[in-house]
Amino acid sequence: MKTDFLILGGGIAGLTTAIALKRIGINATLVEAAPQFKPVGAGIALAANAMKVYHQLGLYDKLLIAGNSIGEMQIKNQTGKIISHANAEKFKNGLTNIAISRPELHRVLLEETDPKQIITGKRSVRFKQDTHSLTVFFDDGTSIDCNALIVAEGIHSPIRKQLLPQSETRYSGYTCWRGLADNTNLKITHTSETWGTQGRFGIVPIGKNQVYWFACKNGPANDATLKSWKQKELLANYARYHQDIKTVLANTPDDHIIWNDIADLKPIDRFAFERIVLIGDSAHATTPNMGQGACQAIEDALVLASAIQKNETIPAAFHDFETKRMARTHGIVNQSWRLGKIAQLQNPIAAGIRNLAFRLTPASVLEKQISKIYQIELPVLNT
Ligand SMILES: Cc1cc2nc3c(=O)[nH]c(=O)nc-3n(C[C@H](O)[C@H](O)[C@H](O)COP(=O)(O)OP(=O)(O)OC[C@H]3O[C@@H](n4cnc5c(N)ncnc54)[C@H](O)[C@@H]3O)c2cc1C
Repeated sequence: MKTDFLILGGGIAGLTTAIALKRIGINATLVEAAPQFKPVGAGIALAANAMKVYHQLGLYDKLLIAGNSIGEMQIKNQTGKIISHANAEKFKNGLTNIAISRPELHRVLLEETDPKQIITGKRSVRFKQDTHSLTVFFDDGTSIDCNALIVAEGIHSPIRKQLLPQSETRYSGYTCWRGLADNTNLKITHTSETWGTQGRFGIVPIGKNQVYWFACKNGPANDATLKSWKQKELLANYARYHQDIKTVLANTPDDHIIWNDIADLKPIDRFAFERIVLIGDSAHATTPNMGQGACQAIEDALVLASAIQKNETIPAAFHDFETKRMARTHGIVNQSWRLGKIAQLQNPIAAGIRNLAFRLTPASVLEKQISKIYQIELPVLNT
């Protein structure tokens, strides 16, 4: 098989890029390893920077209906007292920050892509590139020739590992459970994170009478006991925390709880390799502490489509993309890593000092940091 543009991976990065390319008249072929697109994951926050991209791609209104707008974000101590807050609404530039269930986001993105351009159940294993040809080989023994390869396979991308064998994923030191609970009776309206001595707990209303939550706790990587924790063990862990957390957990059935260790990709110094480019988590996976991993993948999609439109050749476009994206994405990866270390302090004395420092810091300081990320100049596609 031969195609002009090949995208590997049908996550948020791959699907958003397929849509952005479609808007500029390029019908890319997208190959996804999973046999089919099944509803996966819990919820996700899409900040104004990501919503600005979706506005340009014509998906803003659909996402607004499918999700829930985020106003004030609160940080609480474990008794429920607010120690810091920021009003995300201030930085929206006329666009709303939303929280949405991942299956809903995927549904909206898939509706915009052409099913004929998507191949599922095929996992890339390696590539071969020389001056005349570029071929990707798959686990089913087949291969696809292409002129340009966009790698959106997530943090464990085999193509990135072939390009950069020295690239390293880093375990953050904390593990994470996520879930969706019915919000019909809970009626939680605020987005919050609670920082305490048994770990962190985030609660995010995502619309459609659902609330998304995440729980992060320090521990060894890939720990069999932590991996097996469900509602009962989480309720015991957060027994001394405020009531909202216990109510949310009590309203989450075990089969709605997913677990994974939190890791990122140690910043790499190349995204572009002639006619191959890395985007999204394949290029700059970050810890979720700033809620920016997917938002950066979404920015990538627009910047890449614009670079392809503006440059004469694919290598020039991919190099242009790398130049525009490196500093911003590295900055977020590093800032998020540091923030995670602070938010995960579980030693009672250190956690007490941290909470006091946050209480004494004016909301404007937090808001200034948020504004730098949310308010970004993005290229405009010529559609
Ligand atoms: C706990 C947690 C909470 C988060 N919360 C937020 C948030 O609120 N806001 C936010 O912006 N971000 C958040 N993120 C980050 C966000 O989930 C990721 O940054 C985002 O999903 C990355 O998208 P991606 O498409 O690059 O990679 P992925 O989502 O990993 O998608 C990669 C796709 O490629 C496929 N694939 C993998 N290998 C191959 C292969 N060899 N060949 C073909 N296909 C392949 C996979 O099946 C998958 O479909 C969070 C992350 C975590 C862990």
